[in-house]
Amino acid sequence: MRHVYDVIIIGAGPAGCAAARTLANAGFSVGLFDKAIFPRDKTCGDALIPDAHQALKKLGLIERVTNISCPAKGMRLIGFDGSNVLIRADSACVPRLKLDALLLDSAMEAGSEFLPGHEFVGISDENEENYQVAFYRSGNYVSAQTHWILLATGANVRSIQHAGLLLGAECHNFATRQYVRNERLARDIHELTFTFDHSAKGGYGWIFPGPDAIFNIGIGFFGSAHRHSNPRRSYERFITQLPLAQDLMRDGKIISPLKGAPLRTGLSGTRFARGGLLGIGECIGATFPLTGEGIGKAMETGILAAEAIMGQYHLGRTAVAQTYTRSIKALQPKFEVYRKAEFLFNWPYLTNELVRHAARNEYTRRKVEGMFNETGDPGFLLTLSGWMRILFANR
Ligand SMILES: Cc1cc2nc3c(=O)[nH]c(=O)nc-3n(C[C@H](O)[C@H](O)[C@H](O)COP(=O)(O)OP(=O)(O)OC[C@H]3O[C@@H](n4cnc5c(N)ncnc54)[C@H](O)[C@@H]3O)c2cc1C
Repeated sequence: MRHVYDVIIIGAGPAGCAAARTLANAGFSVGLFDKAIFPRDKTCGDALIPDAHQALKKLGLIERVTNISCPAKGMRLIGFDGSNVLIRADSACVPRLKLDALLLDSAMEAGSEFLPGHEFVGISDENEENYQVAFYRSGNYVSAQTHWILLATGANVRSIQHAGLLLGAECHNFATRQYVRNERLARDIHELTFTFDHSAKGGYGWIFPGPDAIFNIGIGFFGSAHRHSNPRRSYERFITQLPLAQDLMRDGKIISPLKGAPLRTGLSGTRFARGGLLGIGECIGATFPLTGEGIGKAMETGILAAEAIMGQYHLGRTAVAQTYTRSIKALQPKFEVYRKAEFLFNWPYLTNELVRHAARNEYTRRKVEGMFNETGDPGFLLTLSGWMRILFANR
């Protein structure tokens, strides 16, 4: 291990690896630290939606990821009443075990040094130029010096606290998933399925077909996890009540335990930057409310932080922090609409109408597609006029 780097990145998930690849490609010396030994399996639904495709294109990795993923024809939304619609969007499913290993390889191939088994425990600011970052490793404390720090430790609240970025510890969102192999259904299901279902009260369920006939099936709760003390029981209700889940489990083989993890969504609860320390990915809440998708935005914020350092490092910490904070704030209005739109989970009538109308008319389908593809303003979900147009379009 070297002891001095231009940039230290803590956390080698999609956010950390995207930043590491970008900065190392630009000639910065990068130390990429993670407490885990890789490959490590991050609990996730494994779906790549359009923003992930965009970020992977920018990183020059889309072909490599396509080669290991199961492409989907789009996303099927199923309402509480069983009505459904297929919407077009670049989408795919790839197990995080494989995706994260690929992203890490790509960061190292660009020149980043990877240091697994290093748990971040604290930072001291030596002077205006340098930080000393402390890690716990195999029973000892070690440290390294750097000009810039990117915190990419995901939903882990303790790390955000150690870094001095935490404003509010609350994390209301929680999701669980399981892997099930089913050769028969793998021949028939070629889309990511999102279902609004009463067993996942305050959230939704999903069934995503991945490579090797392995499905990722799970449920997520948004803005209300504290009211759901037993996600396991809700998951069991989900797989015994939803017809598609029943079908999957009937002759499917369960190949993993049910695992759960919290999600930090909504770009809230943290500062985005503090001096030469920038937070990226889920640690700053860069996972979308409403959908819980965060892989794409983790990579996007990692790239934005890398670009802020590359473009402004000669102007110092304040300029970099301001540039980065501005770019994250530009994303906030969209996150806010998604957060408000979580009311749909608790309004089955409106959710069913949205799905039914999207299935019947092009206008509504385009609006919904625009939400997932980030080509349209999702604000139509929050206004009376938006709903009037949905309910009365093409009638
Ligand atoms: C059940 C579930 C399903 C989901 N489904 C989807 C989905 O289908 N699609 C999607 O886009 N998003 C999904 N998400 C969200 C997605 O998993 C996250 O948005 C994404 O992983 C965030 O990436 P990241 O790089 O910010 O953090 P992570 O991927 O969490 O990576 C953080 C890294 O930091 C390391 N770390 C943590 N603390 C320390 C420390 N103290 N010292 C050193 N290293 C540390 C960890 O070991 C880890 O490797 C889901 C989340 C859950 C819980």
